[in-house]
Amino acid sequence: MRTERCPWCGKKINPKVDRVKTPRTTVGSRFTDFGRCPHCNRFYGQGFSVDRLAVCLVLVILGLILLCMLSPKLAYCAVFPIAVLNFVWIRTRPIRRMDERENLIPLETPILTATVRPAPSQKIRKNTLYFFSDDFDAYDSFQTVSPIFIRSVNRKSGEITFSFLYEQPLNRAYVEREGDASYPIFDFEMQLTAEITQIRA
Ligand SMILES: [Zn+2]
Repeated sequence: MRTERCPWCGKKINPKVDRVKTPRTTVGSRFTDFGRCPHCNRFYGQGFSVDRLAVCLVLVILGLILLCMLSPKLAYCAVFPIAVLNFVWIRTRPIRRMDERENLIPLETPILTATVRPAPSQKIRKNTLYFFSDDFDAYDSFQTVSPIFIRSVNRKSGEITFSFLYEQPLNRAYVEREGDASYPIFDFEMQLTAEITQIRA
């Protein structure tokens, strides 16, 4: 069973279970895995539209036909890896915020900078959520310090930019603390991933 994290509240979601259809379309959802979070009731989707998927498919088929004319054997060998790569690529697209009509909703909380220790951390990944506490799942939605969404990672300097998913009074304690305080951050499965320090606006 595939679990992900809600791009609004950070709680565990299961796109297969949460799936909903939009009233706007008759063929189903515009995005792959469009669903509604059972914790905060907001909508999300894996940001790759079915329209674009169709265009990709046509391009791949045309490419294969061309390859077939040049070398049928090569075309035959290429089908399987292309299919697998496509599947993996779509599965690894980040889950994004959407409204009930499948319009993308940007994350608008301020962008902050921090340094990862030990730098450079290979473990921190862009477009991924991390948590300041490993008991995040014990709280109701929005009741504890917000998860952070990593916007960029500089592997050389160990500098990252990130945003809180939501505004919460407890967030302030992390940003406003003086000096060189460092905080452990935990991944999706609440495994200790790294420490971040020097959080600044
Ligand atoms: Zn949610």
